[in-house]
Amino acid sequence: MTAKSMMPYVEGNSAIRAMFEEGARMAAQFGKENVYDFSLGNPSVPAPEEVNNAIREILEEEDTLLVHGYNKSNSGYEDVRQTVAEHLNGLHGTAFTAENIIMTVGAASGLNVAIKALVDPGEEILAFAPYFVEYGNYAKNHGVNLRAVPADTMTFQPNLEAMKEMITPNTRAIIINSPNNPTGVVYSDETIRRLAQILKAKQEELGTEIYIISDEPYRELAYDGVNVPYVTKYYDNTVVGYSWSKSLSLPGERIGYLVFPSEMADFDNAIQAANIANRVLGYVNAPTLIQRVAAKCIDSKVDIDTYDRNRKALFEGLTDAGYQCVYPEGAFYLFVRSPIDDDVEFCAKAKEHNILVVPGKSFACPGFVRIAYCVSYETIVNSMPAFAELMKEIKESE
Ligand code: PLP
Repeated sequence: MTAKSMMPYVEGNSAIRAMFEEGARMAAQFGKENVYDFSLGNPSVPAPEEVNNAIREILEEEDTLLVHGYNKSNSGYEDVRQTVAEHLNGLHGTAFTAENIIMTVGAASGLNVAIKALVDPGEEILAFAPYFVEYGNYAKNHGVNLRAVPADTMTFQPNLEAMKEMITPNTRAIIINSPNNPTGVVYSDETIRRLAQILKAKQEELGTEIYIISDEPYRELAYDGVNVPYVTKYYDNTVVGYSWSKSLSLPGERIGYLVFPSEMADFDNAIQAANIANRVLGYVNAPTLIQRVAAKCIDSKVDIDTYDRNRKALFEGLTDAGYQCVYPEGAFYLFVRSPIDDDVEFCAKAKEHNILVVPGKSFACPGFVRIAYCVSYETIVNSMPAFAELMKEIKESE
């Protein structure tokens, strides 16, 4: 018999499957070009050509047993970790070495490893609404409770005063995500500074350690030269989770890393715990060929101008049509206020206009909808009359 604990996931999954099937059905009925599917955060810009070149070169030039073998350390290849560390030092003026880096199976496994290494069952993690829905599942995997800090819906910067009130002696970590899924907001220097200040004071007051787990798969997708603060520089008890899923458009290859700074509390045990967590959670080590590819392509990233053009076209088109949205500075999402109170109902109405978007409820933030603009530019341009018609219909029914 299937485990009872999995049944809520199974039921939730049929809803997601139904949405996919509905998208496919609509594409068959109306023609793919007439269905505006903004529901998925799947990169639409191809990986840079350096990636495929690197794969060929590695296979031609390197020792096959080494490239396809188990890593000696569950943290990954030493030279790859050193390359990552030096890359970060060059960008952020940090002083990492291979000892601070653990290669992971994407950001998803990195988050699970970080939670397993730092948070005991029964302890608690906070996340700022709206947040990536899997955070709750990752916490649950380790018997950890995740509580949502209510959103500041005017700016979608983290609501720090609300967070302060929610911290208890049982709070072991805060997950942050900037550039953010689903809002596209980048947390400012001032926000991170204040966050660090509050956490330092709380650690002192409670005599506990409170970690920031900074989930950064969208770090490279930041527009107009906006600064994305590097959190370890503000707060020692920070773990950074990175992934090349979006920056190199490699989500299926499952590759990322964690940074554990030497300044964090109990560093020697924490880094060993993370290394062991990689093994005992069953990841063993990050995919070896792609670790080597990531190191070879350390300075590459996808052409973000394509996303930027989509961002501007979508934001301008939607605001012209009367939708309200905080201007996104990163990632590839817009988080739009639902013109009717019920965001689920709005998504159903949007579907009648062949527009597929995701309710804010799925990100612990009802009253909004997420629009993923990792689609073709034509999809954005062609969808504009449908968005305008939808708004008109809503206004007329008021
Ligand atoms: N964190 C956030 C905020 C995401 O949006 C995603 C994927 O969409 C992930 C983590 C997982 O990324 P990965 O593919 O690297 O596991």
